[in-house]
Amino acid sequence: MADNLFDVIVIGAGPAGYVCAIRAAQLGLKTACIDAFKGKDGKQSLGGTCLNVGCIPSKALLDSSKQFWNLTRHFDMHGITVKDPQIDPKTMVGRKDKIVKQLTGGIGMLFKANKITPFFGTGKLLKGNEVEVTGFDGSKQTLKAANVIIATGSVPIELPFAKFDGKHIIDNAGALDLEAVPKSLGVIGAGVIGLELGSVWKRLGADVTIIEALPDFLGAADADIAKAAAREFKKQGLDIKLGAKLSKAEVKKNKVEITYADKDGEQKLSVDKLLVAVGRRAYTQGVLGDGTGVKTDERGRIEVDEHCWTGVDGVWAIGDCVRGPMLAHKGEEEGVMVAELIAGKAGHVDYGVIPWVIYTEPEIAWAGKTEQQCRDEGIPCRTGSFPFAANGRALAINEGVGLVKFIAHAETDRILGVHMCGPEVSELIAEAVVAMEFKGSAEDIARIVHAHPTLSEVVHEAALAVDKRSIHKAN
Ligand code: FAD
Ligand code: NAD
Repeated sequence: MADNLFDVIVIGAGPAGYVCAIRAAQLGLKTACIDAFKGKDGKQSLGGTCLNVGCIPSKALLDSSKQFWNLTRHFDMHGITVKDPQIDPKTMVGRKDKIVKQLTGGIGMLFKANKITPFFGTGKLLKGNEVEVTGFDGSKQTLKAANVIIATGSVPIELPFAKFDGKHIIDNAGALDLEAVPKSLGVIGAGVIGLELGSVWKRLGADVTIIEALPDFLGAADADIAKAAAREFKKQGLDIKLGAKLSKAEVKKNKVEITYADKDGEQKLSVDKLLVAVGRRAYTQGVLGDGTGVKTDERGRIEVDEHCWTGVDGVWAIGDCVRGPMLAHKGEEEGVMVAELIAGKAGHVDYGVIPWVIYTEPEIAWAGKTEQQCRDEGIPCRTGSFPFAANGRALAINEGVGLVKFIAHAETDRILGVHMCGPEVSELIAEAVVAMEFKGSAEDIARIVHAHPTLSEVVHEAALAVDKRSIHKAN
């Protein structure tokens, strides 16, 4: 096969694209992957948003800031005292950068090991499954493949009256790279990024005010979980203003002057930095050449069916640039599905059981339907919940907050949703996902032995609670 001819070309090397390329190569397909991302050093950096400015760097900073928070707030109860603890944000950010470099470099090694040909620059789909690659130096070449997968990801939504300037008004990438703890940080949007990155800088000492347009906190989560989380965030000093709409943000004398309206009328706030985190939009700029036949929807996402096929022969799209939740693991599974379908296998993604995790303290996690969704859809259900405050392990590690809640079908007992707020629920949710994928019932979890003393006993007790037979609480 000529050097520019491939079985599969993937455009974009975020978690959707690079996983798709690896799976395609594993299946014996000659694979190329084109990526346009440049790291802080101006050099190519594989891994997309997730590895460079998303999932991984945010979790690195969440961990550093949690250590500092524990040191300054919780260590004394263990009898440990430290005089005048300090945080050096430059060192913290440097640690994060090292982790990013290690992982993005790791993708390069995986490409090599799987004989995937990387191209650095932008890819553009042309008619007839040709792809034009424009290198970082402006040079152009044309590749061709039987199958092209578009995995170009997403970018932050910019508000017209609060444009990013990279210094005072920042996006996720800016909030991951602050060189000093701001005295005050404003956050627009109490969504996943607002809560995670707001928590990071709050724990390090910033006054954090979060302005959220909607009247309800975390509307996508189950109401009991959102309520429990809101209570804890308030205790931590995160000031979350609901039903508040931003109308203006102006940089004046090194400060950002914000105007927003809430139920009491127009309000003003002055902050050192403003993080705008009001959602992300699919990024497809320049990727579709003339006459490809690939369609986009009203939100700019590439239109695909349930198998991520665009309707054009040999053209697929996956990850954040298509419908569905903007989550790395959703994109990864779509990548595997498409590679397997191309290789003649039976690829499939169960969109009904994609776990969500918010890595705050306490963590929030869920899979499946909320109680409200079940009621709205007329599904008869029973619920059971159990608090971490009644779990020995949670108390031993000083994390006795939050709860696990099961929602099961009232007649069949099949698990419809599991919702969690508490310690390590990012890990505990996996048990619920497995049970739901196996079409399990609350009784199934209730009958399984869970080690003692572990946090997983809260999952066990919540499953028992569906049938009002929790052991360690009154039913
Ligand atoms: P991306 O990761 O955006 O990758 C797309 C790649 O394509 C990029 O490298 C881009 O440069 C490249 N590209 C674009 N156009 C072209 C072109 N024409 N030619 C060549 N290359 C191109 N999700 C989770 O599941 N868990 C988390 O904890 C989590 N935390 C997050 C934290 C933050 C701060 C942010 C911003 C996001 C987070 N996400 C998280 C979401 C997650 O990052 C995305 O869902 C995921 O990265 C999407 O993967 P993707 O491959 O579709 O796109
Ligand atoms: P988001 O959709 O989670 O939250 C945006 C919030 O901003 C919403 O609550 C929305 O009501 C609010 N909002 C919108 N316009 C507003 C305005 N003008 N004024 C005030 N509030 C406004 O979006 P995000 O936090 O930017 O994150 C984007 C996506 O990235 C997430 O939806 C998620 O898919 C992904 N992500 C995932 C994780 C994770 O899995 N842990 C972490 C970070 C990001």
